[in-house]
Amino acid sequence: MQKEIGRLYVVATPIGNLEDITLRAIKVLESVDLVVAEDTRHTLKLLNHLEISKPLMSYHRHNEDIKTHSIIEKLLQGENIALVSDAGTPGICDPGEVVIKECIDRQIEVVPIPGACALINALIASGVSTKEFIFLGFLPLNKKLRKEKLDEIKNARKTVIFYEAPHKLLSTLDDLREILEDRQVVLARELTKIYEEFIRGNINEIISKAQNLKGEMVFIIEANSDVQEDNWEDISIEEHYKFYEKQGLSKKDIIKKIAKDRGVQKNEIYQKFVDF
Ligand code: SAM
Repeated sequence: MQKEIGRLYVVATPIGNLEDITLRAIKVLESVDLVVAEDTRHTLKLLNHLEISKPLMSYHRHNEDIKTHSIIEKLLQGENIALVSDAGTPGICDPGEVVIKECIDRQIEVVPIPGACALINALIASGVSTKEFIFLGFLPLNKKLRKEKLDEIKNARKTVIFYEAPHKLLSTLDDLREILEDRQVVLARELTKIYEEFIRGNINEIISKAQNLKGEMVFIIEANSDVQEDNWEDISIEEHYKFYEKQGLSKKDIIKKIAKDRGVQKNEIYQKFVDF
């Protein structure tokens, strides 16, 4: 009889507070044949804390290609494997993509086990719009690529999220000072840990509060509502309203302009803002 092939479980682990692991993640870690980890020593501490004893294999940026081959072999032989990173969700600025893609190409089942993810945890408590957002990972260091990303942030019509390492914080704040004007910025620091902190304000306020900050951080930046729209249907009526409100127009003029931009009757727009 042919042996069944195994599954790859992509398991999110805590980003600071060891209690942030789901019951399902624990069950999966208990049940698999092997845990593949970014740093085996780091993951061993988590497994010890959970009183789980499992064989571990390392899988990180520098051995991703070689290790993918051996992980696939084991899955094909019927082993179930959990993939974890040092913190949070594997694949999100962490290794995972290569082996996951290879599994999909080989029709090996990939099962996500959700949990902590710094960008989502930062966003949900930021107070900045969660409706639509773009995540940029880490900003590039290469000058040209960095300039392109900074331009993208400058013109973004959605909330922007990115990760930053503490030793690069001040130079990133300097770059942002050039492009953000009065947009709201939130620096989410040490999420789920003892010194968890949300620093909010415009870029100058953030700079004045951010000297000597240590720890892990996520940047959340409010959308640029001053970007001229060509296609107004791409934004919500509320965002459209905010765009003209920022220009200091009266409610009556805003409604007139929105109706014209969208090619609809003034009354239709007025109804939406009766209580505004
Ligand atoms: N896979 C992780 C996730 O799901 O969020 C991200 C890993 S990435 C290599 C590490 C970056 O995530 C840090 O530099 C920081 O920007 C962010 N990060 C991770 N843990 C964090 C925490 N507890 N508080 C704030 N930011 C955190």
